[in-house]
Amino acid sequence: MSEPAAPRLVLATRNQGKLRELRELLRGQVPGLDVDTQVIDADTAGAPDVVESGVTFAANAVLKAEQTAIATGLLAVADDSGLAVDVLNGAPGIFSARWAGRHGDDAANLSLLLAQLSDIPAEQRGAAFRCAAALAAPAGLVAVKEGELRGTLLAAPRGTGGFGYDPVLVPSGMDRTCAELSGPEKNAISHRGLAFRALMPALVRGLEEQDTA
Ligand code: IMP
Repeated sequence: MSEPAAPRLVLATRNQGKLRELRELLRGQVPGLDVDTQVIDADTAGAPDVVESGVTFAANAVLKAEQTAIATGLLAVADDSGLAVDVLNGAPGIFSARWAGRHGDDAANLSLLLAQLSDIPAEQRGAAFRCAAALAAPAGLVAVKEGELRGTLLAAPRGTGGFGYDPVLVPSGMDRTCAELSGPEKNAISHRGLAFRALMPALVRGLEEQDTA
């Protein structure tokens, strides 16, 4: 039996949804790259948890990508994302996952946000999901890209798909919440999809250079 191909890229997350999304974007893009075995998550790579001490999405994505690349000796991609609400001056922002406390409970975060916005009329409920995606090699940072999905926040959740604040954000120009969109529909317009796709040329180049290194 032949040896399994060595991993070539690690995504600094345990989130299997994000891993699946990155694999689909890379499939067929780099000759000889088997995305299902050579693009792996942080656990599979044995990468340590990284403390997100940055104060912007980009700073946290860079921290995670750089430290994961150094720890594993592989190319590393990381993302950091959250919800920025206009009337809250961009909060919860980098605190989106722990808005109601360190537990990172999606339902508690969502109900706290809705309570905070309860007196705000529909026309003032603009917000955006934002994402920064970073690519690092063990020798240093390669690229950082950002993506945004703007929309309006409802007063009550709607839909059962997605995660986090998806049930209250209706993307601009649509009438369904992110939790009412299919996975591919959301990926096509999402902050994360945009940031990952913007990172793709640098990532493909980095993987091709491994071939010739
Ligand atoms: P992380 O970048 O995976 O750490 O996500 C940070 C937090 O931002 C999540 O826990 C969610 O609360 C929120 N968030 C980020 N992206 C999305 C999204 O696409 N939909 C809903 N919530 C999101």
